[in-house]
Amino acid sequence: MKVLIVGAGGREHAIAWKISQNEKVEKIFIAPGNAGAELLEKAENVNLSNNIEEYVKFAKNNKIDLTFVGSEELLVAGIVDEFRKNRLKIFGPDKKAAILEGSKAFSKDFMKKYGIKTAVYEIFDDANKAKEFLNNWSDFPVVVKASGLAAGKGVIIAQNHDEAIKAVEDIMVDEKFGSAGNQVVIEEFLDGVEASILSFTDSKVIVPLLSAKDHKKIGENETGLNTGGMGVISPNPYVTNEVFESFKNNIMNPTLKGIQAEEMDFEGVIFFGLMITKKGVYLLEYNMRLGDPETQAVLPLLENDLLELVEYSFDKKLSELKVSWKPLHSCCVVGAAKGYPESYKKGDVITGIENASDDELVFIAGAKFEDGKFKTNGGRVLNAVAFGKTLDEARKNAYKLLSKIKFDGMYFRKDIGNVK
Ligand code: ATP
Repeated sequence: MKVLIVGAGGREHAIAWKISQNEKVEKIFIAPGNAGAELLEKAENVNLSNNIEEYVKFAKNNKIDLTFVGSEELLVAGIVDEFRKNRLKIFGPDKKAAILEGSKAFSKDFMKKYGIKTAVYEIFDDANKAKEFLNNWSDFPVVVKASGLAAGKGVIIAQNHDEAIKAVEDIMVDEKFGSAGNQVVIEEFLDGVEASILSFTDSKVIVPLLSAKDHKKIGENETGLNTGGMGVISPNPYVTNEVFESFKNNIMNPTLKGIQAEEMDFEGVIFFGLMITKKGVYLLEYNMRLGDPETQAVLPLLENDLLELVEYSFDKKLSELKVSWKPLHSCCVVGAAKGYPESYKKGDVITGIENASDDELVFIAGAKFEDGKFKTNGGRVLNAVAFGKTLDEARKNAYKLLSKIKFDGMYFRKDIGNVK
């Protein structure tokens, strides 16, 4: 069996690592991939541009049996629809379902329509109307979001009226995020702790995976600039049984009802971004693919073969699959280039990756393999993932692993999973 994985991050390395454990898989192509392919016997990178036709052609020419899409842009652009038209097997939402991630305006209206617990909001496609609305708003902070895809940067938490007005101008008038800012969502600020729940769906049931907790800010104690994620622990200690029940009843089950009522028929992933507050559990957003770096911490704990989940989804029999988990905690710490998320240099040699032991994992993100060496090639360079019977043990093991790896100016947060 030949598999194509679409994406370039640590997430795609983790997906490829998990899929490569299936004996039926003889070859994995990752497009465009990263230096992680060096660490996997069956994997090879292919340099495809962000053009769906190229992916279709590659899948046909290379007789790919299954394509697994890691990143969101091509899903929202309709890669699944094109593959289906060409009778190629692909795991992920079609355009009609991917809009749950591609348009925050659409997803907020979907949440409202199906009674899913979410922050109170208004949608605007005119900057003056948005500003007029803010002139009558007195509850700060307030959250201003570009509706379209903006790589996690299109969300501004405005502390006062002036900042909120500036956010609307940046998004709608100066078009800082291009057409993603044609609409804005303005919503109530929710005070709480975040949780990520990734899930698989065949549109008949939703099967949640273990919960995870991302650490989005560059600085310790969640300070400084937003990043793509500096580390993850799984399970998330804030997701108690009570929180999980509330997620199921007020978010997951009504989401499934909505998917069915809207006739979104697909097999893929739904990522629920949650905020756990004193007033209950709220849904912040849907992503229609696995999260990065959540995947790097969650997949290693999964006992099942990943392709089993995929196949049961295609057969619309996900409800019959028993999903089991290793009774462990995992901790993933991101090693980043100095300066990230602002400017940083590339090309530094990374050493020590080969020193990881059998119970430690290094998932490569922004690095390339050149002249027989791993070299930095992005902001978030790699993920050190380790395990323990307790969260504390998992943390210690992850930092022990990271201490074996070196590159010039490596930065990492020292408080990943330091949950009080
Ligand atoms: P990402 O790509 O990082 O998942 P995104 O651009 O799709 O993000 P959201 O997840 O909706 O957008 O928001 C990003 C972050 O902004 C959230 O993880 C959360 O920290 C914060 N945020 C969003 N909405 C709210 C809210 N209503 N109240 C408080 N914080 C919020």
